[in-house]
Amino acid sequence: MARDLNALWHPCTQMKDHERLPIIPIKKGDGVWLEDFEGNRYIDAISSWWVNIFGHCNPRINDAIKEQLDTLEHVILAGFTHETVIELSERLVQVTPRGLDKCFYADNGSSAIEVALKMSFHYWRNSGNTRKTKFVNLANSYHGETLGALSVGDVSLYKDTYEPLLLEILTAPSPDCYNRDPGESWEDYSLRQFAHMEKLLAEQGDEICAVIVEPLIQCAGHMRMYHPIYLTRLKAACEKYNVHLIADEIAVGFGRTGTMFACEQAGITPDFMCLSKGLTAGYLPLSVVLTTNHVYDAFYDEYETLKAFLHSHSYTGNPIGCRTALATLDIFAQDNVIEANKALSKCMWDSTQHLIDHPHVADVRQHGMVLAIEMVQNKSSKTPYPWQERRGLRVFEHGLKNNCLLRPLGNVVYMMPPYIITESEIQHLAKIATEGIDIATR
Ligand SMILES: *Cc1c(COP(=O)(O)O)cnc(C)c1O
Repeated sequence: MARDLNALWHPCTQMKDHERLPIIPIKKGDGVWLEDFEGNRYIDAISSWWVNIFGHCNPRINDAIKEQLDTLEHVILAGFTHETVIELSERLVQVTPRGLDKCFYADNGSSAIEVALKMSFHYWRNSGNTRKTKFVNLANSYHGETLGALSVGDVSLYKDTYEPLLLEILTAPSPDCYNRDPGESWEDYSLRQFAHMEKLLAEQGDEICAVIVEPLIQCAGHMRMYHPIYLTRLKAACEKYNVHLIADEIAVGFGRTGTMFACEQAGITPDFMCLSKGLTAGYLPLSVVLTTNHVYDAFYDEYETLKAFLHSHSYTGNPIGCRTALATLDIFAQDNVIEANKALSKCMWDSTQHLIDHPHVADVRQHGMVLAIEMVQNKSSKTPYPWQERRGLRVFEHGLKNNCLLRPLGNVVYMMPPYIITESEIQHLAKIATEGIDIATR
């Protein structure tokens, strides 16, 4: 621990917190379990920041990586190609919504967002439309931390400091159903919120390149959720006003919301779909932007026209990352994961229902394999606890003492576990989360 604090600067961390909170060195991982050097074990309830979907040190994925490692570790993807990236691209085209036919690789989620933003902007230029320079996002959205990705996000904690450096963005109110009226359905509320988006597109569509959204769940924005009808309407409006739709499925793709991709629930195909995180089951940094042949064709011309997409990352299409992604897709196919997850989702729901009546819980919400519990100071007015009180941290600490890695987002406690978790492990998480919420709200 001392060597760590001497040489490292950790992500998303006020390092001074570690004067009080010990940093936890992990010795090994096995399935949903992480083990430290003192033999303490923790259920990874948050899939190590939402990336891990089939457990730590999964033997099937490990074997695939070892095989790839002895064949080809990396090769430049400009002018060269390899079997693994070709097969992965074919399979991604097959499993994603119909019409997404081309894969462009990057090496993390934020980079994929940068690719999608640049591609959309560049598409309009290549098509002779230079008026389109703006992007629309949703309030409370998150798309990563690099400057372009941060620009299209809307979580003030991450964004405000850097505001002078960022792109100007048009922001539509979120369809987030936490804010619906008492008795109002998710569908009605999301539809009501869509009216604002429609108006924005109708008025300024001529200047807008694309709308970017996180389909169904705003994960970093406190796991706020909305109804798929919003996406269905949004896709139709984007077509009507000649604006691209970018679906950021970096967190929700690969089964998180109960379908392989969240867009399926709305029956839509976006113009760009960004994938990362679960793409390699949480093993390696890899991301991909899928788009249509229509977009691809706008870049396809003689070199001298300078229409090409001259964007690259050193590790674009890394063979070990791609092989890991193929192993991930194999597990989805062989184990019928989406179907099997239904019982786990139900168990997550059943084991937390008692919290709806908790005097300091305003909402228990779920989409598939994500379940979130919102702690509040006042239940009827939904008045939040002041953020400075850091109530979630108390849940985190209670979890650590009881074999659970729960890492609340502010006042929101959530489960987003690997899909190999068992029902009894879910019940343990629910029990410890409940105790943690009792302690944190005392
Ligand atoms: C995590 C995340 C990103 C950024 O991905 P990184 O790999 O962390 O850069 C972008 N969008 C969403 C929705 C995410 O959850």
